[in-house]
Amino acid sequence: MHTLIVYIARPAGKRYNISIMRTMGETMEYAPLNPPTRTLMGPGPSDVHPRVLNAMAAPTIGHMDPHFLALMDEIKGLLQQTFGTSNAMTFPVSGTGSAGMECCLVNVIEPGDRVVIAQNGVFGGRMADIAGRLGAEVEVLQVPWGEPVQAELLKELLAGKPTKLVGVVHAETSTGAMTDIPPIAEAAHQVGALLLADCVTSLAGIEVALDRWGVDLAYSGTQKCLSCPPGLAPVSFSERAVDALKTRKSKVVSWYLDLTMLLNYWGGERVYHHTAPINMLYALREALLVFVEEGPEQVFARHRTNHRALVAGLEAMGLRMQVEAPHRLPQLNTVVIPDGVNDGEVRGRLLNEFGLEIGGGLGALKGKVWRIGLMGHASRRKNVTLALSALESVMGDAVHRGQALAAAEAVYT
Ligand SMILES: *Cc1c(COP(=O)(O)O)cnc(C)c1O
Repeated sequence: MHTLIVYIARPAGKRYNISIMRTMGETMEYAPLNPPTRTLMGPGPSDVHPRVLNAMAAPTIGHMDPHFLALMDEIKGLLQQTFGTSNAMTFPVSGTGSAGMECCLVNVIEPGDRVVIAQNGVFGGRMADIAGRLGAEVEVLQVPWGEPVQAELLKELLAGKPTKLVGVVHAETSTGAMTDIPPIAEAAHQVGALLLADCVTSLAGIEVALDRWGVDLAYSGTQKCLSCPPGLAPVSFSERAVDALKTRKSKVVSWYLDLTMLLNYWGGERVYHHTAPINMLYALREALLVFVEEGPEQVFARHRTNHRALVAGLEAMGLRMQVEAPHRLPQLNTVVIPDGVNDGEVRGRLLNEFGLEIGGGLGALKGKVWRIGLMGHASRRKNVTLALSALESVMGDAVHRGQALAAAEAVYT
């Protein structure tokens, strides 16, 4: 049986409706695209900066256009600055954060390599999955969710065993915990391993300093603190990582993410590999400019202040944070859902009544916590005020009412 699809465009008042008629006789009406305006305070995507949206609407040019090639150089430079590195191999991979994760792993890992992943949330698990698919002998250091990774435990696991790579998540978006990278890098280097750091949620929200910290490979994503839509994954490879790539015995198993070929495009020779997502790269360039123009220190301080105000307000409502204070990420706030409160209903009402998106729990924390993002452009006082008042309104008698905004205000003044 086949279905004949006929597309008819016809004027309907001021707008065009497209009808699809099928042989079965059903008709579907498509209204013009009109997504609602939301306040995105979940784990990403986060609110996109208006300058970034504007940049995306600039005319598309060819990916070999001299103007575009110059723009690529600018993006590389801005990314190096943002990552805190002089690594020549710093550029955006086409794809989301997970493509960056896969790109880092697929280029340096070969079957039989020992890989140790420190897992304190969902994303460490994803690293271990990818490494396993590449034929690595994967060992996972399980850390309680919501806690940072302790270098001492990692050292014990690594002791005396040659290891190719250690993977760790700097900012675990599934729990809201931050791991201090330098001691982890030191532990990895003691056994000759490369250190891979997931900087998806950390980049442009808290300090990232790849060179000073001794990170060998890192990746990020555009839709968290960079205030861009999802679609690109900035990556950075140190010279040690590039050496590991150059001395591989086997070919990189992914064609699309093979760095040796990607670098012929992003490097000096500009050899066609795949068509760069031009307008998405306009977006990233603008987002990086917004970041460096405000100034990294100012951006990080803004994230810290809004975080303190949000937490003060939540605690005044009688809510409890999941992560201990010293390890909390300012850009991702994990709140324990009180007993008797319906997770889905609260988030549904926030969305429908306030246009506000917050995140639910992921993996082991599903149904147990909310994840309130204050990432990049979304890390603003007006969003803190909105989130606190909307939560108070929606949760009713489940929380102490009337004190949250004053508690938040006290942080700002
Ligand atoms: C969001 C996220 C990822 C995955 O990125 P996608 O863009 O969803 O592919 C990986 N790691 C962390 C820590 C993240 O927050």
